[in-house]
Amino acid sequence: MNEYVSVQQPDKQTFRQFLDIIKDEEVSGKCSKCAFVDAAEKEVDRLRQLVAEDEARLNHAEKEVDRLTALYESTKKELFTQAKARDKLESELAAERERVRELEEECKKYQQWVDDCQADMYINCVYCGHRYGPDDEVPATMADALKEHIEQCPKHPMSKLKAENATLRERLKAVEK
Ligand SMILES: [Zn+2]
Repeated sequence: MNEYVSVQQPDKQTFRQFLDIIKDEEVSGKCSKCAFVDAAEKEVDRLRQLVAEDEARLNHAEKEVDRLTALYESTKKELFTQAKARDKLESELAAERERVRELEEECKKYQQWVDDCQADMYINCVYCGHRYGPDDEVPATMADALKEHIEQCPKHPMSKLKAENATLRERLKAVEK
């Protein structure tokens, strides 16, 4: 798609008009050369007009190219800046992940230490007083044994909540029917 008019091609209609003028002159006896020069000058004016229009369009297009080039350059700079910022954030994130991993390792060590400390102790449920001791046959750590007990301790607040939960579920089932 080319919006610029080519001024290189003489138009066939104009030539046909010249031929008509010459033919008319042969019939009427008028000066064909004068008429031919007039028509040629008109055609030159028309072509000059087209050239001027093309130049104006070309000027406009050049300005647009300049504008887009400047936009491209600033966008490229902006993308470069953003890429640098992203790289910085990614390395910060990697460092944070490493730090979290280290802290998790440290937590495991402390948990092991707590387990070791409790291994030779008696521990009691503060609600019902149930006692686990070092000689009991418990498969896990004392802390795990205590957690297991809490779930079934009749005096721990969780028991009350579990009972309430069961009642509410029953009621809900009845309502939904
Ligand atoms: Zn208990």
